[in-house]
Amino acid sequence: MSLHPLSFTESESPLLDELFKDIKPALNHRQALQESARCLYCYDAPCIKACPSDINIPSFIRNIHTGNLEGAASTIYESNILGGSCARVCPTEILCEESCVRNQEAECAPVLIGQLQRYATDNATFVGHPFAREAITGKRIAVVGAGPAGLSCAHRLALKGHEVDLFEAKSKAGGLNEYGIARYKMTEQFAQKEVDFILGVGGITLHTNTVLGQDIHLTSLMNDYDAVFLGIGLQGSRTLDLANESHERVINAVDYIEQLRQADTKDTLYIPKSAVVIGAGNTAIDIACQLKRLGSEEVTLVYRRGSASMGATWHEQEIAKQHQVKLLTWSRPAEILLEGDTLTGMRFEKTHIKDGRLSDTGHSFDIACEAIFKAVGQTLTLPEGETLKLDRGKVKTTDAFNTPYSNLFAGGDCTGIGQDLTVEAVQQGKLAALSIHDYLTPSA
Ligand code: SF4
Repeated sequence: MSLHPLSFTESESPLLDELFKDIKPALNHRQALQESARCLYCYDAPCIKACPSDINIPSFIRNIHTGNLEGAASTIYESNILGGSCARVCPTEILCEESCVRNQEAECAPVLIGQLQRYATDNATFVGHPFAREAITGKRIAVVGAGPAGLSCAHRLALKGHEVDLFEAKSKAGGLNEYGIARYKMTEQFAQKEVDFILGVGGITLHTNTVLGQDIHLTSLMNDYDAVFLGIGLQGSRTLDLANESHERVINAVDYIEQLRQADTKDTLYIPKSAVVIGAGNTAIDIACQLKRLGSEEVTLVYRRGSASMGATWHEQEIAKQHQVKLLTWSRPAEILLEGDTLTGMRFEKTHIKDGRLSDTGHSFDIACEAIFKAVGQTLTLPEGETLKLDRGKVKTTDAFNTPYSNLFAGGDCTGIGQDLTVEAVQQGKLAALSIHDYLTPSA
């Protein structure tokens, strides 16, 4: 995979859209035709089984091959209304493309399913919205959180003829797609275009800047609406539990990525010359690579276990290497180093597995840096007064997305269901909407 070159000098301050061009340039027409011809349209296709949102992959690829882009996009959207963003952010290398029958040595590479999905959703042109709503039911549902789970849920409920009030704490809908994904994965205003497309089905009223626990409360929503769906994601950041962690140069990666995603130029951003990133997931890779693109000279990503245990896939680790991010494993953060008030680095303890447990080896070392970025996971913080039973820090639900309250449902990252992936959140929002529909129309 080749990356867009960084074609700016230190003295320039390019628009960030220039700096964060698409990491995977879109297929052109000829490439899409050639790639779609590689699909074998397998009976019992393994790629479908590997797709968390059940997209009929061979069907949409065949539509691309026959020139029916609207048919291809409709097939994708029927299963996954956020198919455009999932085509950009899904770890296809461990999902559909890993299971593709062409993913073997003799075939060189799997069919590029994610790229083809993007080609279809980017290039289909619909007259009006591709979906029509069923007869209006008169039922009203509050959806709290306009991220992938909430948007997917709201869309499916609207299709079923229900009226949806979609509440979002921030000033824009989109959730992680708008605020939390690396800028080179979702460029320009794609997240907002997708939100507009979803709302275009009708029946959904978006209320931004509406905060749970301040402007709205679960108890009153449950009283005022026929049903409520909670898809608020995760808001808190885990801590390292070290002294000096409140120093201004110890920064939550998600906060920085949010600021970066909303900025137009580099001028409003703090860009350290050298940085340490603590973490092992996609957020750690995203922040490390973005810092390099912004101009940080030395970025070292440190993880306490080996690379095989990292949450980031091998593909993401490869992206980090291509950005000249140093990856350092088997090292645990031990101390934030200050000289006076100035952060000067971080001390680490070397680790290994001893008697089956992660242990210190007794050796330590320091990395000098200007800033430390924490990407060690997020937590659910329910506002005070919003009492809801949590199970290991997540909203407790059944497999049908019910909570202990009969008309309150939940899905996405705020629950403990499934993997922490955008496509999982979309699927859960969709399935929760169907559960809510069954609850509201039991005889239908
Ligand atoms: Fe096509 Fe690969 Fe899916 Fe088979 S497994 S249907 S070749 S994409």
